[in-house]
Amino acid sequence: RARMYYDEDADLSVLTNKTIAIVGYGSQGHAHALNLKDSGIDVIVGLYEGSRSWARAENEGLTVYPTAEAAAKADLVMILLPDEVQRDIYTRDIAPHLGKGKTLAFAHGFNIHFSQIVPSKEVDVLMVAPKGPGHLVRRVFTEGKGVPCLFAVEQDASGKARATAMAYARAIGGTRAGILETTFREEAETDLFGEQTVLCGGLTALIKAGFETLVEAGYQPELAYFECLHEVKLIVDLIVEGGLAKMRDSISNTAEFGDYTRGPRIVDERTKAEMKKILAEIQNGEFAKQWVLDSQANYASFKAMRRREAEHPIEEVGADLRKMMSWLRS
Ligand code: NDP
Ligand code: MG
Ligand code: MG
Repeated sequence: RARMYYDEDADLSVLTNKTIAIVGYGSQGHAHALNLKDSGIDVIVGLYEGSRSWARAENEGLTVYPTAEAAAKADLVMILLPDEVQRDIYTRDIAPHLGKGKTLAFAHGFNIHFSQIVPSKEVDVLMVAPKGPGHLVRRVFTEGKGVPCLFAVEQDASGKARATAMAYARAIGGTRAGILETTFREEAETDLFGEQTVLCGGLTALIKAGFETLVEAGYQPELAYFECLHEVKLIVDLIVEGGLAKMRDSISNTAEFGDYTRGPRIVDERTKAEMKKILAEIQNGEFAKQWVLDSQANYASFKAMRRREAEHPIEEVGADLRKMMSWLRS
């Protein structure tokens, strides 16, 4: 069974007298930078001139430098830019300043595992990947809690990379919840698989298919929205709290009977066979290549798909309904 590590397993002093540069100040970037700062770590932010994030980082009490300057000043550079732009910025602004003894860090294994970034053998390369969105990484930290993280070491030139990764995970709150050791390969492949087939791709496709089936059969779109989208959260919360059993305890016997008899007809052997194909495309680099090439083509397919998805009727019905659900507004 995999071992979880907690606060007492990670030695924060590994990071004292070190400067950490957080490159990028978006979802993960702002959370890492602010949590590190609150943990007493010397942290600076690296951004490009003209970045929309620049003023925000300064307003939140951080010192910002152009990326190359931040990389030069830092002992550890954590890259928290969108995955598909990391290679260019790394090559231009970071690599020239990554001398022997420095550490390069990531929150996702994509660029290292799929050979988009190939650091010199003289630097430590590690990963600390929170298993949750950035705003949560920040919010739960301010509440005294943390988001679980994965950590990994790809290169250990100094002999201290693992201790550094664990200290970093502690400083952003990860060890409050528990951290798990992995490899760049395992994290990259499982993260992509999870988001493509279950969390993001699978779930949105399931929601849309259910909604469309009801609307095409003549039922009110508002009802279809509640049944197939809104209630997902209520069910998922129960599953996360107490497994499938807790959810099944709390639904009606009728719903539970329908679950057992109909669910396996929706996600069947064909679905699983397709999941295996998708996993193979991740493992053989085909997905990474397709994504990197599309980003280099100015996101031709990505932007078209974004536009088309935004026009789906479930989004229009949902926008109207959510305006009326005052309790949803935070
Ligand atoms: P974001 O998309 O939120 O990053 C935005 C930041 O990157 C902003 O500061 C933005 O500047 C800057 N940026 C965007 N495009 C460019 C560019 N072309 N050149 C220079 N700077 C740019 O990233 P995420 O936080 O979502 O992801 C960061 C890393 O964390 C990724 O490796 C991701 O896989 C990983 N990760 C993300 C999670 C998440 O919750 N989002 C969860 C776990 C891991 P500006 O404001 O000027 O646009
Ligand atoms: Mg991901
Ligand atoms: Mg019902």
